Amino acid sequence: MRGKIIAITNQKGGVGKTTTSINLGICVAMQNYKVLIVDFDPQGNCSSGLGIDKSKGTVYDAMSGTIPPAECIKESSVKNCYVMPANIDLTGATVELVNEKDGYFYLKKMLNQVKNDFDFVFIDCPPSLGILTLNSLVASDTVLIPIQTEFFALEGLTQLVNTINLVKKDLNQSLAIEGVVLTMLDKRTHLTDEVTKNVVGYFGKKVYKTMIPRNVRIAEAPSFGVPVIMHDKSCVGSMAYEQLAKEFVDGQK
Ligand code: ATP
Ligand code: MG
Repeated sequence: MRGKIIAITNQKGGVGKTTTSINLGICVAMQNYKVLIVDFDPQGNCSSGLGIDKSKGTVYDAMSGTIPPAECIKESSVKNCYVMPANIDLTGATVELVNEKDGYFYLKKMLNQVKNDFDFVFIDCPPSLGILTLNSLVASDTVLIPIQTEFFALEGLTQLVNTINLVKKDLNQSLAIEGVVLTMLDKRTHLTDEVTKNVVGYFGKKVYKTMIPRNVRIAEAPSFGVPVIMHDKSCVGSMAYEQLAKEFVDGQK
């Protein structure tokens, strides 16, 4: 499918949404697919992590119609991978959109104008279930959920799944779960085994076999404005995201 849109979402903060958007997006592009990563968080971490200028020509400008969407798409440092940045302006949208009758559809309408230029569009969602995340769920074909392997990992998942189901019922009937990726895995402990077992119990085959280990290279890379694979090609973090990209691509067949 050309122009497939995938929302990378979990309302829980700091679980690896941005890290996964950046590194999965880049690794899929390296497999010769044309990829757009949309930063949809006013924090703009995804843009800075990819070394993209977010001062103008952002997703907010594209949605509000001040700048044509195609002009808000910037080249990343990796061939085939493009980025639509975000900055704090996007906070304005959270206020403006709730007052609009079709406020849930703005991102969808905007992405419809550009998605067919790409094989995959990944949306890095903010840590909430507010209007921005709802826009992402309405715009997307599937949802990819990063889950941090920690004690509180499962809290809030029921709420996330309920939200996905509500969106499916009322706003986007074909929305499906793409996959669930366990992130920041520490060495095998009783706790990680337990969390993994619970997540698999809840999501079954949707859980990717590839799990992302906790790896200092992954955390360092954004400070250089590059994906981990350009920071240290052979570290375990790079290998894990390459493997996840393969599993993601294989899952499309
Ligand atoms: P937010 O909810 O604030 O948007 P997020 O879900 O996007 O957060 P990230 O920003 O991707 O989460 O990750 C949170 C922090 O953990 C960051 O500092 C990131 O560098 C670090 N991190 C993410 N994945 C890993 C990993 N596999 N190993 C080590 N550090 C990681
Ligand atoms: Mg983030």
